Amino acid sequence: MSASDFPGLVDSHCHLDFPEFEGKLEEVREEMRANGVTHALCISVELDGFPKVLGLAETHDNFFASVGVHPDREAEPVDPARLVDLARNPRVVAIGETGLDYHRLSGDLEWQRARFRAHIRAARRCRKPLVIHTRDAAEDTIRIMREEGAGEVGGVMHCFTETQDVAEAALAQGFHISFSGIVTFKNAGSLKDVARGVPLERLLIETDSPYLAPVPHRGKTNRPGLVRHVAEEVARLRNIPLEVLAGATTRNFFRLFVPGGSEKVL
Ligand SMILES: [Zn+2]
Ligand SMILES: [Zn+2]
Repeated sequence: MSASDFPGLVDSHCHLDFPEFEGKLEEVREEMRANGVTHALCISVELDGFPKVLGLAETHDNFFASVGVHPDREAEPVDPARLVDLARNPRVVAIGETGLDYHRLSGDLEWQRARFRAHIRAARRCRKPLVIHTRDAAEDTIRIMREEGAGEVGGVMHCFTETQDVAEAALAQGFHISFSGIVTFKNAGSLKDVARGVPLERLLIETDSPYLAPVPHRGKTNRPGLVRHVAEEVARLRNIPLEVLAGATTRNFFRLFVPGGSEKVL
């Protein structure tokens, strides 16, 4: 297969607005091209930082943006109407990242659950899919998704590290499952099994840059070009050619986030 036949890879979750990438954007984009990574979804973690995330998507055809507040951002209540308003921009293709994180924060986290609900309500109102983060909170995450009707818009369980049962509960609500560099780690045995079993048409890949660089770059600053290592590992686990995995995950990305959009290459 020649390089021009390669279907291309999409990094479905990265944080290119973070200080790690200050002044490095061209380098990052060059590495994406070299690795056949054609597109990336830049994920919002707070509304103050949203203009920068949106700016990336407005100045680059192959970047998209999401709008939302990360579950570990304390004391930032969110009005669904505000999210709906910000999501009107056509470069904003998703609501999030949102969800629940009981790992980094403790105490009464009712505010976190309320804010998750607000995101789901906004997503249903503007009919855009959700990017969901869940850590040490799978049961509440799945329950709130169900209670709020998240399946009406669907979305992705990003940086998935949960069990097969949680994957199945999310799939049953029409969600996609996205794997990050964690799936390349040696000690990720049970996660590797989950990655074998997710239906191909519900699979996505991501870096969560600048975090979680895949093997053999573990411990370094992650960047979207390295999503190729995630793709290679998932293809290896499923015993399918990289091109098949790339074609499926790229199609899934566009079907979910950019319906009717063109898969324009860099
Ligand atoms: Zn996350
Ligand atoms: Zn993230």
